[in-house]
Amino acid sequence: MAERAHRVVIVGGGFGGLPATRLLGGKDVEVTLIDRRNHHLFQPLLYQVATGTLSPGQIAPALRHITRKANNVRVQLAEVTGFDLDQRVVHAVYVGSVPISYHYDSLIVAAGANQSYFGNEQFAFYAPGMKTLDDALELRRRVLGAFEMAEMISDPIEQRKCLTFVIVGAGPTGVELAGQIRELATRSLRGEFDTFDATSARVILVDGGTEPLAAFGEHLSAKTAKTLARLGIELVMGAKVIGVDPTGVDIAGKDAPARIEARTTIWAAGVQASPLAALLAEASGAQVDRAGRIAVLPDLTLPGHPEVFAVGDMTSLNNLPGVAEVAMQGSLHSANTVLRRLKGKETKDFTYRDLGSVATIGRFRAVVKVKGVTLSGFGGWLVWMFVHLAFLSGFGNRLTTLLRWLRSMIGRSRVEREFSVAHTGGDLSLPEQVLRVVEPSPFPLFDVTDPQNRGGPPSAHET
Ligand SMILES: Cc1cc2nc3c(=O)[nH]c(=O)nc-3n(C[C@H](O)[C@H](O)[C@H](O)COP(=O)(O)OP(=O)(O)OC[C@H]3O[C@@H](n4cnc5c(N)ncnc54)[C@H](O)[C@@H]3O)c2cc1C
Repeated sequence: MAERAHRVVIVGGGFGGLPATRLLGGKDVEVTLIDRRNHHLFQPLLYQVATGTLSPGQIAPALRHITRKANNVRVQLAEVTGFDLDQRVVHAVYVGSVPISYHYDSLIVAAGANQSYFGNEQFAFYAPGMKTLDDALELRRRVLGAFEMAEMISDPIEQRKCLTFVIVGAGPTGVELAGQIRELATRSLRGEFDTFDATSARVILVDGGTEPLAAFGEHLSAKTAKTLARLGIELVMGAKVIGVDPTGVDIAGKDAPARIEARTTIWAAGVQASPLAALLAEASGAQVDRAGRIAVLPDLTLPGHPEVFAVGDMTSLNNLPGVAEVAMQGSLHSANTVLRRLKGKETKDFTYRDLGSVATIGRFRAVVKVKGVTLSGFGGWLVWMFVHLAFLSGFGNRLTTLLRWLRSMIGRSRVEREFSVAHTGGDLSLPEQVLRVVEPSPFPLFDVTDPQNRGGPPSAHET
């Protein structure tokens, strides 16, 4: 009888799951890729979907399409809910609540991280973050919707609130979003409204630190602050947001205003590891840190379970940052380790090669830090552009993205300005208790608790 192929289950088709899936595609193993979304999301460009430059499809190719040529890979749209590490089983649900389980010989878990509100989950009602496509579309609705509301309002104080955007967190996501919203107002929307001048829109970045983009070092932080000021973005540093409501934020800080009146607040501060990290830690005896990240062994496996790897944003090892490159290299290391073991070779510890960091601040302006070498301005932007195009999945996406950039940066147009007037719902990265209120069922058609559900739920099964 033919020997059964080695079964590798990969949880998460993001930067930590996809490279491993690709590397194992076509090899003599059986790969199951489980993700609760049908796409691989290029999170670094989410802010361009939120501000109308790119369409969701350009940064989110379907996992099934990416893996179509690998006959040994199957893709499953399911949400992983738990692990039995002793029995080597992954538990999941599909269409919202139908149980399904997957047996594995090797397991790679890369479930990423969610937004953290540092214990103030109620802020999420009024200050959504940006982790998923639905988040980006929700932000697009709020940002472009605020300009539309401003047009309809005659009270100048209320109009000003609509034209004020507060972004909490001056890391790369906050800085990039701030730059884009300001450029949206000053370039793309300029001259389009009758009752106000779009270029008067205020964009305010609030952060507890002393400089924006602190992780890039003092020199680039100072340059970033200057560029932001030139773009007309207001910086409120050394400030802690202590309250968020529908009409503004309350702030504590020596030199900060006590309150900013704004109809749109966006949360770009803090991450919390996927709850799957805590489940794996509990099952293996590993530690989790304050951000919920599981401490992995130097070879990225879990204590007592050399067959289980955890990689990417949900893990901690040697203070490595939560960036795409760490997740991708960890992913390749895990898949290579599986293959090495099958050949009877020794496993190796994970070594991270730091390829540097990039962040764009606005049109043709970015900062780059590679091994102590720094670059800013147009040169930095060219590096940023090539890096992002290189890592974007699919030739077609690269080409159309480049064209969109040229169109919005040389010209002024943003073609993705439509937004739904309904709540986008479904896949928002809100804290559980907030999500339950705004969107009770992610798959309403199949909701087993819904008496209207005519077909009834599919039956549970094992694979
Ligand atoms: C707005 C934004 C901008 C960023 N910009 C940059 C940047 O410029 N440069 C950079 O290097 N990094 C950037 N990052 C960080 C980078 O995107 C992450 O470090 C990287 O995505 C981590 O990869 P991951 O695989 O750990 O997580 P992810 O890429 O988030 O993938 C996790 C996957 O797991 C799936 N999943 C989660 N839970 C479950 C479950 N229970 N069941 C099934 N599937 C599940 C998710 O659907 C997702 O597909 C940015 C992040 C964000 C949010």
